[in-house]
Amino acid sequence: MYLCRPSQVQSRNASPGRLPQTSSRKTMKGKLQVTITDQAKSILVSRGETAFRNRSAKYPASVRDRGIGGTSRSFTNALLSCSLPNGQTVTRQWLLYSPSTGCVYCFACKLFSSKHNTFVHGFSDWKHSERTGEHEGSVEHRACMLALYNRSRGTATIDSDIVKHIDAERQYWREVLKRVVAVIQFLGERGLAFRGDDELLGSAHNGNFLAPPKVSYLSSTVCEEFIHLMGQRTKQAIVNEIKESKYFSVIVDSTPDLAHVDQLTFIFRFVNNDGHVVEGFLAFEPIENHSGDSLAECVVAMVENLGLDLSNCRGQSYDNASNMSGKYNGVQAHLKQRNPLICYVPCAAHSLNLVGVNAVDSSPEAGRFFDFVQAMYTFCASSTHRWGKSTKALWKYYAQLREALNDMSKDMEEKCVTRSEASALCDKLDTLEMAFMAYFWDTILQRFQATSLQLQKHDIDICTATQLLLSLRDFVAAQRDNFEVFEGAALNVTTAVSQEYRHDLQRTKKRKIMSDDSAEPGVAFNGKDKFRIETFNVVIDQLVSCLNHRLNAYTHLTELFDVLFMPDNMSNSKLTLKANSVAAAYPSDLNMSLADELIQYKSFITEKEKHPSKMLKTMINLNLQSTFPNVYIALRLFLTVPITNCEGERSFSKLARIKNELRIRMRGFAVQLFAQGPRLSLIRPWFYVTFSVLFSKRCIQHINLKNHFSTA
Ligand SMILES: [Zn+2]
Repeated sequence: MYLCRPSQVQSRNASPGRLPQTSSRKTMKGKLQVTITDQAKSILVSRGETAFRNRSAKYPASVRDRGIGGTSRSFTNALLSCSLPNGQTVTRQWLLYSPSTGCVYCFACKLFSSKHNTFVHGFSDWKHSERTGEHEGSVEHRACMLALYNRSRGTATIDSDIVKHIDAERQYWREVLKRVVAVIQFLGERGLAFRGDDELLGSAHNGNFLAPPKVSYLSSTVCEEFIHLMGQRTKQAIVNEIKESKYFSVIVDSTPDLAHVDQLTFIFRFVNNDGHVVEGFLAFEPIENHSGDSLAECVVAMVENLGLDLSNCRGQSYDNASNMSGKYNGVQAHLKQRNPLICYVPCAAHSLNLVGVNAVDSSPEAGRFFDFVQAMYTFCASSTHRWGKSTKALWKYYAQLREALNDMSKDMEEKCVTRSEASALCDKLDTLEMAFMAYFWDTILQRFQATSLQLQKHDIDICTATQLLLSLRDFVAAQRDNFEVFEGAALNVTTAVSQEYRHDLQRTKKRKIMSDDSAEPGVAFNGKDKFRIETFNVVIDQLVSCLNHRLNAYTHLTELFDVLFMPDNMSNSKLTLKANSVAAAYPSDLNMSLADELIQYKSFITEKEKHPSKMLKTMINLNLQSTFPNVYIALRLFLTVPITNCEGERSFSKLARIKNELRIRMRGFAVQLFAQGPRLSLIRPWFYVTFSVLFSKRCIQHINLKNHFSTA
């Protein structure tokens, strides 16, 4: 019967998996008679009779056929209640039905009666159902009910005090554990240090972990075990998300940490089930070899260790270092050999930076300007009281800055070195070239900065990134016609700025005419033309050509996927052609129905939604994934492709903060956990499940030890 089947009895009190002790033997009639041990009784009482009731509308197992011509009777719900003398009805809580035997049993007598009793061994004589009422009124039943009541109050067993004590102890440790976990999570999310100089309670130097009250009960090894578990669990939560979304891209970068160990960071980009693009940090891996094939091996091993399938990888993004981006021996080439569908995207933010660096190198005047900015910065940073005067943007406060430097060069309270440095910087600010460059670079770099910030957003897509770079290139190219504007602004920025170019102020040297020189005089430019031709135009041309060069890297992907933007002027035949080329590029993911689906979807969505990320979200919100499966997959593929490896750089910032000079020996798993930061909240619901299991083990060990010592 169900009443006391040991396998079904899961104790609140016993540790998981431990069964209450019961013994059974066969009676003379061959029936299995179960003897319930005292421990089992405690467990059954603690669960209460409600756990074994088996109430329903019909009870087929209880049908009792009374032979030929006899009527068949069965148990009914009417038996479950009885009438009080005043006519009110109350439920018979003690009466339990067993679907396996079709009999009813008395919960109290089953546990506590020592006499032979049909309600102990199973009552099914429905013709004489009045015997239920007779049993209810019997002395033996009443005594058993009282025994049950006493036992449930915990007053009737010898060890009731110990049980109470264990319960209190358990509750106490559970509360302690909750705090420990909360403190670890709090410190982990904020990357704060755990330990201080000592481990004394109440000490001001005992670190953040021991600072809050009542978390000091667990040793540092237990604390590390928690950290390890939490790190593993957070990682697993992210991996599960990636597995659900199927497609992913890898973003990898490396940097040496404070202990001079090179750390390879792994970021995964994917589109989650809500249609949001996620770039998540997963791990740091110390490396020794920087060659392309060795790093590629590292990436493959990491993907496999995480339980992901490299055949579902669709993109990779690295900075422009040759071991990463090399066409023949870089990581990207090695990964492409394993899976040709992993398209490579050089980091757009790094590329933009390189464009600027190349442009500065192209002209000596531009080089001099940035040397001046650097000198200005060094001068301002060398003493704190100069910060307030000089660190505002160079162009915005050009006049004021010049004024401040001029004052400083004449201030006899300043040191001699400071005065001469200020004077030299002031002289440089007075040249027309410097004022021109300050305005020109301010204009250019403002746009570079804004574009770069946009590129660093994690949900940007490759087509938008390309559009941004194209618009930046057009903006820079348009500045070619604005020479007069820049010059006018530079001449008027302050009265101290020279009204002539340096070249015009210098004495022109007469060149010695050689015997083979022509008699006609050479072309001599004035200062303005010389500056325009040799500096201004060179810098702009260099910027434009570098931007074009960097844009080439994105052309293939942009042209492949621009069909997903579905411009209105694109004819259906062209759209079909382009859609077919997307389907051909991803033969294992898409089929040729993509074109038809796109044409239909184009007429369905509004103008506002014609952006891949919005299209995907609309599709998910309206549950149209199965109606337009190819469009759905194509959008996911497109959004999975990474644009920058900024998330890698962000993880390095975290690494520098976590593994600082005070925590240089921090172990790998702790670094992993803290680098997850806010992602730790992913495991919040999991805390109390895992920790209560962990806790039970520890609590029982603790109590066993305590009991052992108190009895010894
Ligand atoms: Zn009874």
